[in-house]
Amino acid sequence: TSFLTLDKLSLAYGNTVAVKDLDLDIRKGELLALLGPSGCGKTTTMRSIAGLMTPVGGRIRLDGADITRVAANKRAVGLVFQSYALFPHLTVFENVAFGLKLKGMRGAELEAKVASGLKSVGLAAFADRKTPELSGGQQQRVALARSMVMEPKVLLLDEPLSNLDARLRLEMRTELQRVQKESGVTMIFVTHDQVEALALADRIVVMKNGAIEQIGTPEEIYNHP
Ligand code: ADP
Ligand code: ADP
Repeated sequence: TSFLTLDKLSLAYGNTVAVKDLDLDIRKGELLALLGPSGCGKTTTMRSIAGLMTPVGGRIRLDGADITRVAANKRAVGLVFQSYALFPHLTVFENVAFGLKLKGMRGAELEAKVASGLKSVGLAAFADRKTPELSGGQQQRVALARSMVMEPKVLLLDEPLSNLDARLRLEMRTELQRVQKESGVTMIFVTHDQVEALALADRIVVMKNGAIEQIGTPEEIYNHP
């Protein structure tokens, strides 16, 4: 059964159609990769799921509700940007606490929630550091923890590993997979790297020119490219 459904979704920038009549069913707890060359519509699709862009056609359903026109901050969809977008003047703790505070969480509940988020990404010992003191991989983990503590129904990651060097990329692949499986959160990540998609994803959606060219498990995609 489908948890997140894109139904005949069409997305455009003015007269430029970026995504056309896209149908996609995503299961709860799935780790899905959106794979394809630059310009094929991956980021645009993610933006629409996040609520940063209104479709020109079609619908988006999440957990039984039509969210096509629901505001971005009311969708329970988390977004981790390629740039991490951390606050450099704040500590790791304060970065992870930021969204929770906006929701009104305070005191012991907040401390416990942030501590558990940092523990889940292996950063418990870094709570009091400023983020520019951390490595790229550690900053990526802070961004991941910051989104995870909000308990999104879906977490979207835009090229999550692309800013890391080769060694860290391998390490973060394992880390991302572990956090996803342990939390059971439904996750969609964008990549143009086929090896990364094959290594990480439960299913891969291959996009081309704003449409789905192929969809399947890594085995299926690998055996029938
Ligand atoms: P990526 O392919 O890595 O997502 P791009 O370099 O294509 O990033 O795009 C970078 C920024 O430029 C994005 O904010 C995107 O929305 C914008 N952009 C991409 N293509 C166009 C375009 N044809 N006209 C205007 N803005 C664009
Ligand atoms: P991808 O993420 O797969 O690289 P995008 O979703 O960024 O692709 O882009 C899909 C199409 O939409 C491309 O033709 C791109 O040029 C266009 N596009 C993206 N962002 C903008 C924008 N801000 N304005 C105009 N066109 C854009």
